[in-house]
Amino acid sequence: MSTVITRIPPSPTGRFHIGTARTALFNYLFARHNGGKVVFRSEDTDRARSKKEFEEEIMNGIKWLGLSWDEFSRQSEHTDRYRELLEKIIRDDTAYVSAEPAKDDPSKMVEVIRLRNPGKSVTFTDLIRGDITFDTTELGDFVIARSMTDALYHFAVVADDMDSGITHVIRGEDHISNTPRQILIQEALGAPRPAYAHLPLILDEKRAKLSKRTGATSVMDYRDEGFLPEALVNYLALIGWNPGDNREDFSLAQLVEEFSLEGAQKGGAAWNREKLLSVNQRWMRKLSTEEFISRGNLTASDTKKLYLSAPLLKDRARTFHEAREMLSGELLCLFTEPSVARESLVMKEPPDRPEMTKFALESLSEAIKGLPEDVSIEVVKEILMPLADAEEAKGKGGRGAVLWPLRYALSGQERSPDPFTLVSILGKEESVARTQKAIAILEG
Ligand code: GLU
Repeated sequence: MSTVITRIPPSPTGRFHIGTARTALFNYLFARHNGGKVVFRSEDTDRARSKKEFEEEIMNGIKWLGLSWDEFSRQSEHTDRYRELLEKIIRDDTAYVSAEPAKDDPSKMVEVIRLRNPGKSVTFTDLIRGDITFDTTELGDFVIARSMTDALYHFAVVADDMDSGITHVIRGEDHISNTPRQILIQEALGAPRPAYAHLPLILDEKRAKLSKRTGATSVMDYRDEGFLPEALVNYLALIGWNPGDNREDFSLAQLVEEFSLEGAQKGGAAWNREKLLSVNQRWMRKLSTEEFISRGNLTASDTKKLYLSAPLLKDRARTFHEAREMLSGELLCLFTEPSVARESLVMKEPPDRPEMTKFALESLSEAIKGLPEDVSIEVVKEILMPLADAEEAKGKGGRGAVLWPLRYALSGQERSPDPFTLVSILGKEESVARTQKAIAILEG
């Protein structure tokens, strides 16, 4: 096979859609797997709707995902070249200038360029779907340019693909019906026909076309929510492709290694946020504590405690947004002194509880004092659990009668991590101080 050249040709008329990202990824993987090249082409022929800021977002987003391209161009900069090619096919008489009433104002005459359609049936081989045949008769002599300086979309695509030597066009199945028209233009230009592969559309959970109504559709929204690019790449690859077995964890490098169009599927593939969340959590867990904190932009008033909280965050958070919410919610008690209410410290039954609770907290406080400086959750548990077990043996309210007041004294919250985790993160000095404060409140 001659050098593979694929293309990433987004239209900068909207934000960086996940469908665009998935197509870009597949083009990138196919080219890199085959030692080929990727051409990025901004398809900005729709001057009214194309915006610089969308182009920038798409380019930044593609880079953020870790993808790259070898050549860059913009259709708006190819006007001279399109004119040259239009002149050529008009000379060859495969296209012609047609004077006709303007569409928007029939009282005005315009000169558009129409392709001389041979009106035949066109068959192309799709690498994912097999042979596809269209009868092009009903397309008639369709318009390919509104004027010599205003080539229409299909003409621009075909001219650019020819000039860039594109060997493989990998794109969404919504472009299947454009293909026969583009093939007719190619034939008029004498351009070689690239191989085609049309990917299934990404559907939402109700199997309708993915849209904003059912959740975020811009890659950047996922970035801002604290998804890792590794996770999005991994997940996007699995929408429409599989390795032929049940493996699901793929880095970009592994995907480059393994990707082939034989693994691409025909059927629509559904976007599944739950699955994406679990893929993201797996990638978050792979990060070292340093990476986890810096890539998640996680901050807290005490860096040491933040580091010690990382395992807890990795265990529970599925996005960095969730991790940040935990830090300002359930874990806030680690960083600010809690306010403790007397009635919450004591369980209602049995009635002698305040004394018992005080007694339990005193012995716990003593035990915590005896702990070494930096202590693991396991060690805290080993030391404190026997005290709770002893209470249970007395049959007076069980372990909870000891562990609840301790957890509440340390956190001041109805919901928080377990007391062993709290002690190991707070450290012995602060744990003792908080327990003593609760004891004072009980005495009060
Ligand atoms: N610009 C088109 C789009 O964003 C892609 C065209 C193509 O792949 O041929 O849908």
